Amino acid sequence: MSKNPTLSEYSKFVNSVYGLQNDRCYTVWDMLANTNKFAMRSIKGVRKNNREKIRLNMLITMSWFTSLMNQFHVDLDGIVWERFPYLCSYCGECPCACKAEKVSSRRKVLGNMSMKPVTMADYQKMFNKIYPKEGRTEKDAAIHLAEEAGELSEAFHIYMGDRKVAHFNEVRLEAADFFSCMMGVMNSSNIDCQKELVKLFSKGCFVCGKAQCICTFDDVNDFKS
Ligand SMILES: [Zn+2]
Ligand SMILES: [Zn+2]
Repeated sequence: MSKNPTLSEYSKFVNSVYGLQNDRCYTVWDMLANTNKFAMRSIKGVRKNNREKIRLNMLITMSWFTSLMNQFHVDLDGIVWERFPYLCSYCGECPCACKAEKVSSRRKVLGNMSMKPVTMADYQKMFNKIYPKEGRTEKDAAIHLAEEAGELSEAFHIYMGDRKVAHFNEVRLEAADFFSCMMGVMNSSNIDCQKELVKLFSKGCFVCGKAQCICTFDDVNDFKS
């Protein structure tokens, strides 16, 4: 992975390290369970004010979530920009004015392509501009992430029930919201997502150290974080 990966480069990197193992060993429910497991550990870190627990588990959550998106061939960069084009996806403002304006229904947001973030760091910066960390507590950011984890699971549950295109679109929207909330927690917790990911995954999988992960199903289940 380069030092300044774009979201697409990061997705490709995750696929090269974990794609094979994921396709062979994990169903969508396994992938979702792991995404949620590590997100909740991170949230526990917020409750206990354990900085290392928040940091490590957010990075692992990002990796499982990206694998899940890869499994469904979702263009992460595309869905995040479509939903958050340097504007709040609800009120259409930057910074978000949802609280001040009491916006009652979602507005149509159209962004300016010239502002589109390039690297992951650019995306994190963008989310702090739309939703400045000063406007919420770290606990609020964590609760919001938990909400979105539930909504993402619900969207997958419905889509996997009827496999309708409209419901797959809901998955895409909820995935973008979940990504936004991961960035929210990392902004609130002062975690430099790009820098930390590059460091943690410098040799491929950070657990087995291989460029193509050989961790078993049990290794993942037994992993303490
Ligand atoms: Zn807003
Ligand atoms: Zn591994």
